[in-house]
Amino acid sequence: MSSAFDSIRGGFYRAERALRGLFGHAGALALAFALLAPACFTVPVTGRSQLNLFDATEDVAIGQQAYVSVLKESEGQLVRTGREVELVRKVVERIAAVSDDPGFEWESNVIRDPETVNAWCMPGGKIAVYTGILPICQDETGLAVVLGHEIAHAIARHGTSRMSQAVLAQIGLEAAAASNEDVAQYQAELAAAVELLVLMPFGRDDELEADHIGLIYMARAGYDPREAVAFWQRMAAAGGGAPPEFLSTHPSSEHRIAAIEALLPQAMADYEAAKKARTRK
Ligand SMILES: [Zn+2]
Repeated sequence: MSSAFDSIRGGFYRAERALRGLFGHAGALALAFALLAPACFTVPVTGRSQLNLFDATEDVAIGQQAYVSVLKESEGQLVRTGREVELVRKVVERIAAVSDDPGFEWESNVIRDPETVNAWCMPGGKIAVYTGILPICQDETGLAVVLGHEIAHAIARHGTSRMSQAVLAQIGLEAAAASNEDVAQYQAELAAAVELLVLMPFGRDDELEADHIGLIYMARAGYDPREAVAFWQRMAAAGGGAPPEFLSTHPSSEHRIAAIEALLPQAMADYEAAKKARTRK
């Protein structure tokens, strides 16, 4: 579990230069926006208005850069062929097709690591699933719960929204900086912070939003959304030592399951509509 986390960290260190480059661009963008108006992005499905200084093509560039590094770290553990990787790619394809995809470049890989109960999706649609989560998924529908949630993080652009908040905080610091050396130092600090932001588990609100959007997407793709409740019950039973993203103690399993249950009537309507559309074909 820690080995996977460390390998992700290592990958991001290698991506640091690229992130710094992007950050420079982001800083320029942010300044431009600060002079005009805050850049707002409306999150699909929930309709929440979100601060985001990047555009969707930048999400793709940021995610791509980091993905290459992380996959290189796990090269020996990549599952190249077989049922697991075929199933993951099939589910990603089905869910991405019914999602509010702004034109992301979807790619998914399976990493052989039975100890790691985890999966993630970088900005722009680059996905990894560790084999340790597959027994908890149990089947294709369980996998759709995980991948719906991950695809939702990307579509809701949680990663670059967090980066935007950091960039705007930086503008405040820059305004307060007395000299160019101060600015350079703050930029270096922020570049490190951005790296951490990408690595850190999402906050509670982002997790609940990803659950919500993921539930609707799995239903639209024709997967029974009631299975999301069963999945999170199994995840809770698997317990404590969960790794980043799927380990997050916030929100609690109980809260998470209650929130999903409250959304089930809407998700079931989408599921029934998807089933009807499929039988008509
Ligand atoms: Zn999540």
